[in-house]
Amino acid sequence: MQAITYPIGDSLYLNITNRCTNKCSFCIRNKAKLFNCQHQLWLEKEPTAQEVIEAIGDPNKYDQIVFCGYGEPLIRLEAVKKIAKQLKTRFKIRNSKLEIRLDTNGQANLFWGRNIVPELKGLIDFISISLNTDNPNLYAKICQPHFGQSGYPAIIAFIKECQKYIPKVEVSIVGLSQIDKEACQKIAEQLGIGFRVRPYYEDKYVR
Ligand code: SF4
Repeated sequence: MQAITYPIGDSLYLNITNRCTNKCSFCIRNKAKLFNCQHQLWLEKEPTAQEVIEAIGDPNKYDQIVFCGYGEPLIRLEAVKKIAKQLKTRFKIRNSKLEIRLDTNGQANLFWGRNIVPELKGLIDFISISLNTDNPNLYAKICQPHFGQSGYPAIIAFIKECQKYIPKVEVSIVGLSQIDKEACQKIAEQLGIGFRVRPYYEDKYVR
């Protein structure tokens, strides 16, 4: 059965779409339909916001609820807003550590043709943006964005917008040898935001 939600540690991940504006060479979608040999993340049908809310259950059980999954969550902007709003308003939040995080490739403003970041204000507490490289050429090569060379500068602009509206902002890269970790970390430091290296999990995936 397809997994709309899947727990990792103290976090609950939400899987709302397979769609994405990138075709990253390292994307797990190209490798497997089961995540950690356990969760069937390839969606045959995208869940409605209500189905996601029902699958979450009591949010107080988690420290983070994370929009992530096998695709780009902001392609489903209205669903993200609806789910986050319900989490913020419908439930009595007793866990003071609980935050709503969104993992994104940072191209939502290109996809929607407008600045959508203000719409996330008050709904998303923490945004993690995949920077992936320190330059547009390598980004275009390994992430193959639908938007071509305009993808990378749009991500930098998106990060700066997020700093205005979202309390916690970080960028991440995948720990691959062709990615210059120090140069990416320097970009994060210059922007004054967090930096994280995501593991490259290939061995854990099965077809
Ligand atoms: S941005 Fe994420 S979901 Fe999209 S192709 Fe790259 S790794 Fe996969």
